[in-house]
Amino acid sequence: MQSKYDLVVVGSGVNGMVCALLAAQRGLSVLLTEGQASLGGGVRTRSLTLEGFRHDVCSAVHPFGRCSPVLRGLNLEAEGLEWIDPPAPVAHPMLGEDAVMLYRDLARTASEIGSMGGVVYRSLMTVLQNCWDILEEPLLGPALRPPAPKTLLPLAVFGPMAAAPASWLGPLMGRRGAALWAGLAAHSLLPMESPGSSAVACVLGLLAHKVGWPLPRGGASAIAQALEKKLRTAGVEIKLDSWCTSVVDLPPARAVVFDLTAAQLSSLLGPRLVTGRRKSLNRYRLGPGIFKADYALREPVPWSDPRVAEAGTIHIGGDLQAIACSERAVWQGRVSQEPFLLAVQPTLFDPTRAPEGKHTFWVYLHTPNGWQGDATEILEHQMERFAPGFKEIVLRRSVMNVADFQEYNPNYVGGDILGGANTLYQVVARPFLSPDPYHLGGNMFCCSASVPPGGGVHGMGGFHAFQSVLKHLG
Ligand SMILES: Cc1cc2nc3c(=O)[nH]c(=O)nc-3n(C[C@H](O)[C@H](O)[C@H](O)COP(=O)(O)OP(=O)(O)OC[C@H]3O[C@@H](n4cnc5c(N)ncnc54)[C@H](O)[C@@H]3O)c2cc1C
Repeated sequence: MQSKYDLVVVGSGVNGMVCALLAAQRGLSVLLTEGQASLGGGVRTRSLTLEGFRHDVCSAVHPFGRCSPVLRGLNLEAEGLEWIDPPAPVAHPMLGEDAVMLYRDLARTASEIGSMGGVVYRSLMTVLQNCWDILEEPLLGPALRPPAPKTLLPLAVFGPMAAAPASWLGPLMGRRGAALWAGLAAHSLLPMESPGSSAVACVLGLLAHKVGWPLPRGGASAIAQALEKKLRTAGVEIKLDSWCTSVVDLPPARAVVFDLTAAQLSSLLGPRLVTGRRKSLNRYRLGPGIFKADYALREPVPWSDPRVAEAGTIHIGGDLQAIACSERAVWQGRVSQEPFLLAVQPTLFDPTRAPEGKHTFWVYLHTPNGWQGDATEILEHQMERFAPGFKEIVLRRSVMNVADFQEYNPNYVGGDILGGANTLYQVVARPFLSPDPYHLGGNMFCCSASVPPGGGVHGMGGFHAFQSVLKHLG
């Protein structure tokens, strides 16, 4: 059958949109199909609570969005995207003492950590910053490509730090430094004792100093809107409200790129994949789920340490031991009674998202994959420990459990928001061992969070999948 399109992209997350856009900019005919009524995947902002309050359904802070080479190259700022930098990227409140503030300024952050711990943190970050310019490209791409000679030394430095469990590396930075490290490492959704749990802390910590953790003015959907403008200008045909349940229904195309995670691919493409690929996808491990709450607030969160109001993102859990306990419980099939919370307070820096004087608050905790419980009470109990009086300022809340997330986006199987567990093995074999993990076989490709560099709003999966399409189809 004659192909109607050069490329069909299924799913309009940032990766899918980037892939479609790069292809159209090269003159290819492209169809982008999306199950929902709007483009965006993980970057959508909606009115989840009361009129006039705008909440990010999924992603909220964007260090990757700002540092990503492909997004930088697309110049989304020219389409209206505006980044806001809170005075501090991260605050880590502690019980009974001052919060540890992570500022863009490295020396100031080191003094927050204090004495020897601060010196160790500063040295580690300095080494990482020196490596980043050379390592950015390989770290944001496939793991099994032969490394360029210039990357060998930086990789030899970065590798062992990234592979270290956060529970080993953190304590070298003293008690306050270890707490900060644990909060950064917890973004990996791995137990603190896991090899590789420091990798995400290394990258997110270094990006906090290098590019900050910015918020898009108006919410994460500003990223999708900027990309959509570019897609339309480039002539990409867009089909909304169109869930792909069988590949047979897709129009003929020279290549099909799926912005779908491994579990969806496995059921959708099963018999079309060669046996080895199919087995790998079936063996691919899911990560934990999440339970999220969005709040409309009467006033700003009453943090025990008022300096926490300087930060866009807050890591709530206390010291390393407490966070380790919370994250270990998730892998043991439980939700801790005092869980680690990841929170963002956008309206302190972006008043466009709520009525004057009012605020929004975005917060989630990790759960076992597929966990069906209601964690509202546990979450609010933990908030009260670090911000007494929190419950009294709530005007309305909206919660999403793992089932709600999977219904919202079938990519989030069992609530796994990162396209597969971030274990050391799956960082390399994502979703299978190959120097080109974007190519599923034949004319089928994958660009989602299940391919390197994994979860996050960076579009690099879309970039690499398009390179793979070019290589295979010429
Ligand atoms: C609660 C939450 C908080 C997060 N916070 C952050 C953050 O602060 N910063 C950050 O960088 N990252 C964050 N992330 C992760 C980030 O949002 C994702 O990793 C990223 O958006 C993945 O983009 P993607 O293009 O791979 O796919 P997705 O965003 O998953 O988009 C895929 C699209 O495909 C559609 N789709 C799925 N299945 C089908 C189908 N069968 N047929 C048709 N269409 C389909 C979906 O509707 C969706 O629009 C968060 C994620 C969640 C859920």
